[in-house]
Amino acid sequence: MQVKKILTLSLFSLLTPAFHAGAQDMDYSRKVIKTLSSPAFKGRGYVAKGDQIASAFIAKEFEKSGLIPLNKGSYFQDFELSVNTFPGKVAVKLNNTKLKTAADYLVDATSPAIHGKFNVIPVNRAGINTPEKFEDLIRQAATSFILLDNRDAGKESTAEQRTISAHVRALRSSEKLHFKGLVIFTTEKLTWTTLTYQNPRPVIQVNKQGLDPGSIQTITIDLDSKLRPDYQTRNVAGMIKGYSGSDSTLVITAHFDHLGMLGRKVYFPGANDNASGTTFMLNMVRYYAQHQPKYNTVFIAFSGEEIGLLGSRAFVKNPLIDLKKIRFLVNFDLAGTGEEGIKVVNGTIFRNKFDQLSQLNTKYQLVPKVEIRDEACKSDHCPFYQQGVPSFFIYTLGGIQAYHDIYDKAETLPLTAFKNYFQLMIKFFDTF
Ligand SMILES: [Zn+2]
Repeated sequence: MQVKKILTLSLFSLLTPAFHAGAQDMDYSRKVIKTLSSPAFKGRGYVAKGDQIASAFIAKEFEKSGLIPLNKGSYFQDFELSVNTFPGKVAVKLNNTKLKTAADYLVDATSPAIHGKFNVIPVNRAGINTPEKFEDLIRQAATSFILLDNRDAGKESTAEQRTISAHVRALRSSEKLHFKGLVIFTTEKLTWTTLTYQNPRPVIQVNKQGLDPGSIQTITIDLDSKLRPDYQTRNVAGMIKGYSGSDSTLVITAHFDHLGMLGRKVYFPGANDNASGTTFMLNMVRYYAQHQPKYNTVFIAFSGEEIGLLGSRAFVKNPLIDLKKIRFLVNFDLAGTGEEGIKVVNGTIFRNKFDQLSQLNTKYQLVPKVEIRDEACKSDHCPFYQQGVPSFFIYTLGGIQAYHDIYDKAETLPLTAFKNYFQLMIKFFDTF
């Protein structure tokens, strides 16, 4: 199976005609992905101006290609968002074991600041499977942390699971309960996120082998966090004029933001999510700057996607172009793998365009597969789609599974389909 896959891929590359996206562009792509994912870009979040640095870089690339700024002479569209950040100290010790941030544990995105050494009350899932046991635990824990051993999650009956889940939810976020914080031991992959608010207590997810949750008696925690209720960030938008003189537009989008930093040292590179899609879009910028398109072609790099599509929502609320004039929008998010092809969200909705894309791939043998998907409000196409804009969100399949963690790095991102995927999309845009 593995061998067959490799043979198929090399056959694809042999059949591919020499095209604009040759070796030179892969060099450019690797360089840009590396830059966007580098420590200097701070995980493209809201600590140490990661978002400002990244958006400035993208605007510079737009300028180099001669794009027309979309916002009264500026590429930037400012908007405000609320975000909980971790700009200072982040350190956790269980008993005397110091944990490695983002490798052994994650701080929940909603956690408020806390400093000190606290007693820990360990409990397993069976210890919170009735309201009586749960109330007992809360009574004991007034000045302590609760440590939940959640490693056996899902082994109970459905009814029991429902009770336990409700209790875990309350431990995480209920304002009515009073204890210091929650540690959850898990065997699941640690996956981070960014959120707009703080919960009343810190929550720490731990996944560390060789540490027995039942033996933990104390936690020493040094956690700074800062809620920024009106952080000003920005989208980047530019245009290339079409030769047809038509006032309708094609729109190509990608979010440039990622999860930023967890403390002063740890940052989330977000190479696949979404330095890859941003770079894919920048390749489109360079291509159409050299090959004038038929229709006005608008490029938008969004901020705030990871917190809830906030950049695209802000754009749709204050559009810099007439949304009714958009012939089609394609959003690229997760463009860095592709050994199993690509998936097209909204493929079933805009079936005709999906079929054209799929037929182009069959004809030119560019990526291993073009899969169809129904609507899914998972990326920045969605606010446009909700306003009636015909749109796809496309992502690559297969390859490295790093996602929203410190392992989503440029060095390990394969870019398996990148070049062929790019050619396929150029051919697709030619169908308009
Ligand atoms: Zn993404």
